[in-house]
Amino acid sequence: MEKPKCPFCEIDHEKTRVIRKDKLVTTILSNPRLMPGHTLVIPNRHIEEPWELSNEEILAVFEAVNYARTRLLDSIATGCDVRQNYRPFIAQNRLKVDHVHFHVLPRTNEDELYRESMRFEKEIFAELTPEERTRILKLFHS
Ligand SMILES: [Zn+2]
Repeated sequence: MEKPKCPFCEIDHEKTRVIRKDKLVTTILSNPRLMPGHTLVIPNRHIEEPWELSNEEILAVFEAVNYARTRLLDSIATGCDVRQNYRPFIAQNRLKVDHVHFHVLPRTNEDELYRESMRFEKEIFAELTPEERTRILKLFHS
């Protein structure tokens, strides 16, 4: 079966939401978006795992993330989240694109994302127990 078309490889056809296109990465407005100013930084090369990025692409991604962050902090945000979600266990759909991308989310204190979602993270946080610390550290050192 042919893979579905990659919306980020076709982004040239949708120039209306391109913020800037550089040699190695393209920065666009996310659509759909979590909040106004939700920006995506996408390597121009189609790769699906962030660790496939070349050193040159890593630098280009973080330069573009920093550009977006700076512009958002100058205008509509007082903070920002930078995220990369690697979730191969979810099939590509309108909210999940396989082509690696980084989210830049403009944030303000107790914004809608916090009120509707992230405040519940507080209930998930737990103390790291000595048993868990030992068990998990073994995973890294074995
Ligand atoms: Zn692609």
